[in-house]
Amino acid sequence: MSERRIIDLRSDTVTVPSPEMRRAMAEAAVGDDVFGEDPTVRRLEEMSAAVTGKEAALFVASGTMSNLVAIMSHCGRGDEAIAGDQAHIVQYEVAGAAGVAGAQVRTARNDARGRLDPEEVESLIRGENVHHPNTALLCIENTHNRCSGAVIPPEDTQELADLAHRHGVRVHIDGARIFNAALAAGASVADLAGPADSVGFCLSKALGAPVGSVLCGDGAFIARARKMRKMVGGGMRQAGIIAAAGVYALEHMVERLAEDHENAKVLAHGLAELPIVDLDPETIETNIVIFRVEDAIGFARGLKRAGVLCTMPGPGRIRMVMHYGIERADIDEALDRVRHAALAPA
Ligand SMILES: *Cc1c(COP(=O)(O)O)cnc(C)c1O
Repeated sequence: MSERRIIDLRSDTVTVPSPEMRRAMAEAAVGDDVFGEDPTVRRLEEMSAAVTGKEAALFVASGTMSNLVAIMSHCGRGDEAIAGDQAHIVQYEVAGAAGVAGAQVRTARNDARGRLDPEEVESLIRGENVHHPNTALLCIENTHNRCSGAVIPPEDTQELADLAHRHGVRVHIDGARIFNAALAAGASVADLAGPADSVGFCLSKALGAPVGSVLCGDGAFIARARKMRKMVGGGMRQAGIIAAAGVYALEHMVERLAEDHENAKVLAHGLAELPIVDLDPETIETNIVIFRVEDAIGFARGLKRAGVLCTMPGPGRIRMVMHYGIERADIDEALDRVRHAALAPA
């Protein structure tokens, strides 16, 4: 068999920085950020606050740290946070809310589009009773990773935030891919984040930076979050070297997300033509394609042999993610390989 390029659709975290991004990193002005003296980190935080429409921002090591620090800053020990049962916070963050923040997460059902039912959420908010924990926080994920990268529309976020705020509950958006959400919704990131008290987004996913996330909120919240970040060991020194990649990403990598969304649609339409694939391509809104096949393990194994990498987000489910470095031609090639692999004997 001839040498074939691996088409890696496992995640948008597998991107490597472009030469221009690396140059920006090499040339970054730096200082000690724990002393507040790194100009590149400060620039990234100012840009992030502006784009999310919040007062202040904090550069953190990862999306997981962004959510953890947000939960630690919104909740006291023994408080309760409500999150979707398919949320990244619930599924993939090693129960940091419980294990580190000391908060109990109570889940509400996510529908197939990642939405939460406002009535259910309201029913989960605790009343005053000596037995009950205090409901401190509601977490919303946008786009919704496990729900095919679905976009939560601004009016849904507004409705949930209004009801949470009526009960004195604060709202955090896990916006790891909120730039994808904004593009697909035809809204600004600030519109999507507006109803929430805090929002975090990833630089290291579709925006193509090697490291980092940014947590945004009002000044008092970010001041608390800065201490919490220090507590979990996330105070970084000459972090401008990695923040420079984030600055570059915000300046140069946002527009290209449209390409990923287009590629996801092409891939989804191609996959949906295969009899073994259960997928409605109309449900694909952003850069994540999730579909069902009966034998997902065999399917993924066959694809791996053919040089196409994917993940399995659950039994019978396959996930493929578009990102910087995946071009339209790769999608055509991936579809060819999937067709062959699907026809080949196991
Ligand atoms: C990837 C992701 C995170 C966590 O990001 P890491 O940088 O991998 O820690 C959080 N939330 C969502 C929705 C994600 O997709």
